[in-house]
Amino acid sequence: MSGTSATRLTRDEILAVLDTVMDPEVPVLSVRELGIVRDVRLEAGEAVTVVVTPTYSGCPAIRVIEQDITSALHGAGIADVRIETVYSPAWTSDWIPTEARAKLKAYGIAPPSPAAATDLVQLLRAPRTPQCPYCDSRDTEVRSEFGSTACKSICWCRSCRQPFEEFKGI
Ligand SMILES: [Zn+2]
Repeated sequence: MSGTSATRLTRDEILAVLDTVMDPEVPVLSVRELGIVRDVRLEAGEAVTVVVTPTYSGCPAIRVIEQDITSALHGAGIADVRIETVYSPAWTSDWIPTEARAKLKAYGIAPPSPAAATDLVQLLRAPRTPQCPYCDSRDTEVRSEFGSTACKSICWCRSCRQPFEEFKGI
């Protein structure tokens, strides 16, 4: 019995709601800015399907993200929210727009390197040297592949002698 449908939100209005859903691990970026939200579909009836792609295949944050998206849309009056998780095409850091990269950097997290993100053999190659978000130096080292969360690495900058985190591409 959901027959008393008020005016339905448009796709753009739904996207605007999703702009307010921040990533739990990188709270300066919304799930849209990170490229996690791939599509929004208005289904028959009043259902809305949000298509999401996790940034990292083992990323435990995707469950939190799904819950946050669902409750944000419930708050906007959409009762029937469906989340569809797609793994193909795989998320790439190319989906993070330039302004969002700048926000990541300002937050003290090195944005993922576009080249490495799409390269599945990156783990077999020479050690990565992420660019320091504080002084832009490349004289850095990855100290631990798993930082505060599985999606971030702990790095060290030899130039300004500060630790920083790198948001991993995959
Ligand atoms: Zn530095």
